[in-house]
Amino acid sequence: MVSACLLGEKCRYDGKGYLLPSLVTSLQGYKVLPICPEVMGGLSVPRPPCEIKGGDGMKVWQGTAGVFTEQGQDLTEVFQKGAYKTLKLAVTTGAQTAILKEKSPSCGCYTIYDGSFCNCLIPGVGVTTALLKKNKIQVVTHTEWLEKRRDHFD
Ligand code: SF4
Repeated sequence: MVSACLLGEKCRYDGKGYLLPSLVTSLQGYKVLPICPEVMGGLSVPRPPCEIKGGDGMKVWQGTAGVFTEQGQDLTEVFQKGAYKTLKLAVTTGAQTAILKEKSPSCGCYTIYDGSFCNCLIPGVGVTTALLKKNKIQVVTHTEWLEKRRDHFD
């Protein structure tokens, strides 16, 4: 599974993609399933940016953090719905690895924004990343994926 925006799909909150040609090239020969948890949860493109307040994706599943727009709209359940749909797809397709977009409140693997909308990063995972990890799906950033591929061929 790959965050669809990394493959160039214009599914980000700002209506843009985040195409990484080197990632696309590295995926040749693999069965690739593009996913966008936020769109799968029912959000539109474009949409207001969201950040996790109170912690990271793990805390969201523990019920002590939530996902909000800058105006304070609580979209936690929408993010959880998208995460569940992503997990279901992973299980039904037998996906072995998820390559996800760093810093996203859904797909972040190591860092996310801190909920203040001040462009501040904190350590933590996104809501979908947390659910996939809790269910033993391997999650990597595109950088980790490319490094693994490089090591494999060196
Ligand atoms: Fe990309 Fe994930 Fe955000 Fe969708 S939810 S735009 S796949 S980072």
